[in-house]
Amino acid sequence: MHYLITGGAGFIGSHLTERLLEKGHQISILDNLTTGQAKQLKEKNVQLIVGCVTDRELVSRLVTTADYLIHLACVVGVRQAMRKGIETLKISYLGTENLLEAATLQQKEIFIASSSAIYGKIKRSSVAEEDDSLLGASDKASWLYSVGKLVEDHLSLAYFRERGTKIKIGRFFNVIGSYQTDSYGMVVPNFIRQALTGSALTVYEDGSQTRTFGYIEDILDGVELIIAEGALGQVYNLGGFEEISILELAKKIISLSSSSSPIEFIPYRAAFGSNFEETRKRVPNINRLRQLGYSPRYSLDAALREIIAHHKAVIS
Ligand code: UDP
Repeated sequence: MHYLITGGAGFIGSHLTERLLEKGHQISILDNLTTGQAKQLKEKNVQLIVGCVTDRELVSRLVTTADYLIHLACVVGVRQAMRKGIETLKISYLGTENLLEAATLQQKEIFIASSSAIYGKIKRSSVAEEDDSLLGASDKASWLYSVGKLVEDHLSLAYFRERGTKIKIGRFFNVIGSYQTDSYGMVVPNFIRQALTGSALTVYEDGSQTRTFGYIEDILDGVELIIAEGALGQVYNLGGFEEISILELAKKIISLSSSSSPIEFIPYRAAFGSNFEETRKRVPNINRLRQLGYSPRYSLDAALREIIAHHKAVIS
């Protein structure tokens, strides 16, 4: 099978590329390399096209050559999206439209990457696919990333209903693994770098906010399951299963990496200014995916051990 992966040079995309190559598939990647790194793909038998999903003619041409489309490209991370609002929304709307339009005309199936960010600040013990989106006011730029991903969801579902486009949506919660850079503020690579270099771990606010981290190998099992078994026009939450507070996470990383780094508490205002607001709790309900046979294998400890070992290997 020939897959076209947009954003294939990024963290999730490059792991997915490796896995699909190992299974003997052919891969083309469309990536503008703003956050994706070509070096991860070096010596791999992939066709890398450096360009942007907003280029309609390019997207249409690449879709012609592929059997299956996987759309991961977007501006990475809430903090970067706050600084690059125009680009974030353009890529979300125009890029996704270009892919959907080409997929529709050429009758190709497409996997769309959604994000748990669309649930916003909804307070529930866990969120299921049909739960509400609760986003903060538009003067808080930290919600812009959520809006972009929500536009992608709605556009994809509208194409499914109105044009019969063959879409499947995987809604990623916090994913962790090797190759994830600490350049965009993601907490796990940040904390691991800080722990391994003896710097203070920067916990925002009091660290009582929680997240549920999914290990990349498990998450890729989920992506493959959705592509193989998922229903068309359906959304699947795709995430981990152990909720942890950010303060507990910091302590765990210090202990697993045998670090003597201290913990430093930083108010949101000091880190991001006054127009920042974030979700205090995020836990996915993954029952819909479990019904397809999803069964994540990595505990948080096991995942963190793997990632810390990878970081140590890169540093030494
Ligand atoms: N966080 C933190 N210190 C850091 C980076 C992140 O305390 O150096 C917190 C952040 O405020 C959030 C959580 O860790 O509550 C996860 O942040 P990340 O950027 O990894 O993902 P998000 O869930 O915000 O998309």
